[in-house]
Amino acid sequence: MVRVIDAGGRFLGTGYYNSHSLIAARILSINDEPIDHAFFIKRIKAAIELRRSLYPDLNCYRLVYSESDLLPGSIIDRYDRYYSVQILTVGMETLTPLIISALSELVEPSGIVLKNDSSFRELEKLPLYVKAVLGEIPPTIEIEEWGIRYNVNLMEGQKTGFFFDQKENRLLLRKISDRKKVLDCFSYTGGFALNALKGGASSVTAVDSSLNALELLAGNAALNGFQDKLNVEKGDCFDKLREARDEKFDLIVLDPPAFIKSKSRLNEGIKGYREINLSAMRILAAEGTLITCSCSHHLSDEDFLAMLRSSARQSRRQFKILNLTTQSPDHPILLAMPETKYLKCAVLKAVN
Ligand code: SAH
Repeated sequence: MVRVIDAGGRFLGTGYYNSHSLIAARILSINDEPIDHAFFIKRIKAAIELRRSLYPDLNCYRLVYSESDLLPGSIIDRYDRYYSVQILTVGMETLTPLIISALSELVEPSGIVLKNDSSFRELEKLPLYVKAVLGEIPPTIEIEEWGIRYNVNLMEGQKTGFFFDQKENRLLLRKISDRKKVLDCFSYTGGFALNALKGGASSVTAVDSSLNALELLAGNAALNGFQDKLNVEKGDCFDKLREARDEKFDLIVLDPPAFIKSKSRLNEGIKGYREINLSAMRILAAEGTLITCSCSHHLSDEDFLAMLRSSARQSRRQFKILNLTTQSPDHPILLAMPETKYLKCAVLKAVN
């Protein structure tokens, strides 16, 4: 732990220091205060209150989003009475017992998982592991988002098991799905696909390369009574989009994983985005809608739009932007730290 002072000796904040990281110090507080149990109670309590006010009817969301909740290097996701904690820095790793005890005191959880398998941990030379630190974790946990039920695998799912950041964008899709033929690319366990069905889609094709994700998706469809109009395909979305040349979809969702893992891979990643967006634009029906996303931290809003413009030009079609959105507010953006904004989502309507 360090007290950070400026060159003139003026106090800037309390934080933790890592001489091996490019981000030498991460600030926990702009006050000179002890980082103890009471500190974590205060921080996590504020985070809980924000989510309760944002989503009084939901039992699942991101409860703590790192710097944005003034707890750099830590993520906590709520899955009903179970919690998944992900620690991303050495500094926070040493504080983990304080996080677990404060969380336990505040929410009386049935179980807590430490989902410490993110590759970001390797940057800090931390080991990768997943373990239950409190209670028994069932193989799947049922959550409900906007009236749709999902089974989530907390121990083995991608990230912490579910992508909460898209919850508002899923509603955008639901509103325009009635009687539409929908293609959900990079579907994972069905966040978008099931919302399209809930919104009255005539058919939904969901494509993902992960068999585990698709098995959960099929189960989730059955759980909600949507299995009849859903077609699940295991495969590479780049291939699917390229090969579907003769098929037309009224609505296409592109929600790929981050193609740009580091700044040095920017151009390579943009190529990937351009390819899937161009292919999708080619198979979009007349007056169809494309909901296209990027969760790459290293892709700016401007570069995202420039990429879409270039894909549209190449497809020889014109589009209107109906919405430009970002991650849901349970992943708040810290005004002072633009890096906390990562999700870009555009709703594009083909003019003809
Ligand atoms: N839209 C989802 C989240 C998508 S996460 C939701 O709302 O929950 C990204 C998904 O892309 C993961 O499920 C991963 O398995 C899948 N994926 C990654 N590369 C892929 C590829 N080349 N082709 C198909 N799926 C891929």
